[in-house]
Amino acid sequence: MTEAVDPAARTAELEKGLAAVRSRIVSATTASGRADEPTLIVVTKFHPADDIRRLARLGVTDVGENRDQEASAKSEILRDLGLNWHFVGQLQSKKAKSVVRYAHAVHSVDRPQLADGLARAVAAEQDRSGRAALECFIQVSLDDDAGAHRGGAAPSEVGPLAEQLAAADGLVLAGVMAVAPLGASPEASFEKLASISERLTADHPAATGISAGMSQDLEVAIRFGATHLRIGSDILGSRPAVG
Ligand SMILES: *Cc1c(COP(=O)(O)O)cnc(C)c1O
Repeated sequence: MTEAVDPAARTAELEKGLAAVRSRIVSATTASGRADEPTLIVVTKFHPADDIRRLARLGVTDVGENRDQEASAKSEILRDLGLNWHFVGQLQSKKAKSVVRYAHAVHSVDRPQLADGLARAVAAEQDRSGRAALECFIQVSLDDDAGAHRGGAAPSEVGPLAEQLAAADGLVLAGVMAVAPLGASPEASFEKLASISERLTADHPAATGISAGMSQDLEVAIRFGATHLRIGSDILGSRPAVG
């Protein structure tokens, strides 16, 4: 991954983006009367490993990726940084084996077959490397139009999926995740997610995670209880075109 940019200028650009986002997070957290600040996951998909190195020097500890091949390569190159890698994209069950080699958490568990694949893969990986348990967020579709959704289980499927994840050795049921549907109000979407989270924690009190909020809607997500924010473009700039 070669760079056409001036390294010092790029570092300054990232520092500025990160500072702006961190200040938005502090303001929104204070405005919502919360004492606990959500975890910032910087979504680095399509951006080079050098950018992640710069972000780590700026204090970033958690990064998000949405394609296994890319995440696997970057995490290998950046092993020395000790970052937490969050997988946030749609995931094929056959990729589970690869993802458990580097991922600290998967935010896109949305069907029994994938939960099963991750459970088997993490058990094998724990035998091999002694890795920690894998945190799993259930991705929920907040879109009423099933044909248009961007991945995710229907709200009615969350209960059974949660039982499955909670019962699996090596998996930790962390909570729920969603992307606000295009065209819908983020307020209505994240309010719905908060109520789904509330139902989940009634049965699974430790599964308090709410992974919600991107560059455009992080303030609303914080207002509705987000514990994990997934921010890309407002820190890194627009994503390079995919080849
Ligand atoms: C890309 C991506 C993000 C980050 O989105 P930005 O609008 O760039 O902040 C967050 N969540 C998921 C699932 C993504 O794929």
